[in-house]
Parts: sequence; C-alpha cells; structure tokens
Amino acid sequence: MHLSCRILLLFAVLIGVAACDRGPRDHHQTLLVFGTLLDIKAYTDQPAEFDAAVRDLERTFQAMHREWHAWKGDGELVRLNRMLAQGDPMTVTPELADLLQQAKRHAELSDHLFNPAIGRLIALWGFHSDEPPGGPPPDAKKIASLIDETPSMSQLLFEENRIHSTNPAVSLDLGAFAKGYALNLAIRRLQAFGIANAIVNAGGDLCVSGHHGDRPWTIGIRHPLGEGVIASVDVVDGECVLTSGNYERYREYESIRYAHIIDPRTGYPVEHVASATVISKDGGLADAAATALSVAGPAQWQRIAKQMGLAQVMLVDDNGDVHLSPDMRERIEFQQPIGQVIVSPGLDAGS
Ligand code: ADP
Ligand code: MG
Repeated sequence: MHLSCRILLLFAVLIGVAACDRGPRDHHQTLLVFGTLLDIKAYTDQPAEFDAAVRDLERTFQAMHREWHAWKGDGELVRLNRMLAQGDPMTVTPELADLLQQAKRHAELSDHLFNPAIGRLIALWGFHSDEPPGGPPPDAKKIASLIDETPSMSQLLFEENRIHSTNPAVSLDLGAFAKGYALNLAIRRLQAFGIANAIVNAGGDLCVSGHHGDRPWTIGIRHPLGEGVIASVDVVDGECVLTSGNYERYREYESIRYAHIIDPRTGYPVEHVASATVISKDGGLADAAATALSVAGPAQWQRIAKQMGLAQVMLVDDNGDVHLSPDMRERIEFQQPIGQVIVSPGLDAGS
C-alpha cells in the first residue's frame, strides 16, 4: 500500500475511534435517597451534564425526603399534619400544594382505596417506623375508632396554597405516592440538563425517557412470590412502571404476615394480592394506583383502574395467578412459569 494511503487509513481509524469515544454509551450512578437506592442510568454522549444532573437530583431528593416525610424531623409535611390536627390552616409551598392536590384527585378517583389521609392508622400498625415492629396486631377497638373518624382527602380544602381540613383526624402519609411523583420529576430534571435517554429506578419502581440506543429500555418486574423476574417489558419515552408489593414491608406474628398496605375501609392490611403493577406516563398516578389496586384486589381492580384512566395493569394474587388488562397482556413477556393468566375484558386504552 502506498504510504500516504496507509497514513490516510490510520487517520480514518483514529477518527473512527475518536468518534466512538464521543458516541453515546451507558453511564450509571447510584444515590442513597428516600431511604432507598436510586439507580440512574443514562445513554448519552454528555457525561459531564449527566454528572451535574445527578448532583442536582441528589440535592432535590434529599430536600423532598426532608420536607415530605410524614413523621420524621420537622419538615413541611410534619408541620402541616400538626396544624391539621389542631384544626388550623397552613400555607405550604406550591410544590407540596400541587403534590397534595394530585393526591386528592387520585384518592377520589380510586374511591379512596388510595387514601393518604390515613396516617394515624398507618402509625398504629407501626408502618411509620423504618423497621415494622413485631408483636401482635394493634387492638381491634383502636383500629375501629380510627376508622370511625373517617379521614379522607376530600376533607382537605385548598385556597391556592393554603390548606385546611374539615376533619382534624386527617393525617397525611405520602408513602404510597411520593416515590412515583419524584421519579417523574427526576426524568424531567435530567431532560432539563440535556439528558434525553435515561432510566431512573428506585428498587424496581422506575420512569424512563427516550430509548436505549436504537432499542427501547427493557425492564424486569420482580416476582412477588418467588425469585427473580416474573415478566419483562419494553418501556418507551416517558413511561413509568410502579409496583406495590405486599412482600417487602410487613410485620409478622404467629406466622401471619401483616402487609404494609392497609385497606382504608376496614383498617386491616390487604390480603390476597401479592403485587399490583401499573404502567403510565404519570408516575405519581401509577404509584397511587398500584396501591389502590392492591386494596381493590382481584374482584374490583378493573373498576378502579377504569375510573383512574389506566389501561396497563397487572395484579398477582396470592395463588400466583396473574390478572392482566388486555393492553398489558400485549406487551409483557413472562420470564418464568406462572399460575393462571386471567385477561380482563373491557378495559379500554386510557393512559
Ligand atoms: P411500596 O412501598 O411497595 O411501593 P406502596 O406504594 O403501596 O408500596 O406504599 C405503601 C405505603 O403507603 C405504606 O407503607 C403506608 O405508608 C402507605 N399506605 C398504606 N396503605 C395505604 C392506602 N390504602 N392508601 C394510601 N397510602 C397507604
Ligand atoms: Mg403506591
């Protein structure tokens, strides 16, 4: 080969390598926020912007954890709960007002099966502590008296950012909703930093943006009763996948498990549902709905999903049978043998 050709070829190879270096690839960071590991992955050729976005997210999430915690410290939600219990109004930040207005809407659409006003009941069951307690379940009379107080999000009234409650028994706990809301926000924040292809994952609950190269992001949904992944699904631009599980946090006494999702109608933990998974572009809605559908159970989930405008739902019951909306059936791929698959008719495409 002529020398100049060889030089040219070498040059081409070098350019190729340089181009590869500059091309998009996976970047990955983990944060410890909300008492959980937040896994942030981006497919990008802008690692510096990604780093800056992650640092920004870390600050934002720590502030959210501080301000929206229902019982720890002296954040905004703790102060609001104190004021509501005294029968007093409080002016909150626009962010918290927005969060609570959304929570109120989701609660009403779920027939209050998602009911973040039952903070006292959640505390009585001990699900306010990081480690749920052992010992027998709470006294039935105490449970009944908290149910009789009928706390509901409909009793929470807004005049712009000024909030008051017509019922002092309302005690807000955003444990079933804030994570999904925050995941959505994280994706938007990454986009603001120019990171268009990302996945933000908090213990299996996640939102994505864009794609993973020329493929969609593929994610696994954990098996609520066994090991590993029950199903995988391709998720695209802006979608969130939220799962409420009765397998992660529970208290146990005399071999009976009391799960951390409480049926607001009875005051007792949900039975018969191992997990509920919802896909929606609205992470907060998906989180609230996953909790509401766990409460609704195999008999009522379709009605609640329809009211909440959801088309993509999977419920795993305690027999291992899998209940699916038709849209969900179309897109998930089971990764291991499962019980019966029951596809519900009549859930039209919504979100
Ligand atoms: P996970 O933590 O598995 O994602 P959820 O999203 O369902 O589950 O959140 C469960 C938490 O929500 C509980 O720990 C409690 O703080 C709160 N909670 C329990 N039951 C309800 C309910 N019916 N409505 C609203 N919040 C609830
Ligand atoms: Mg939830």
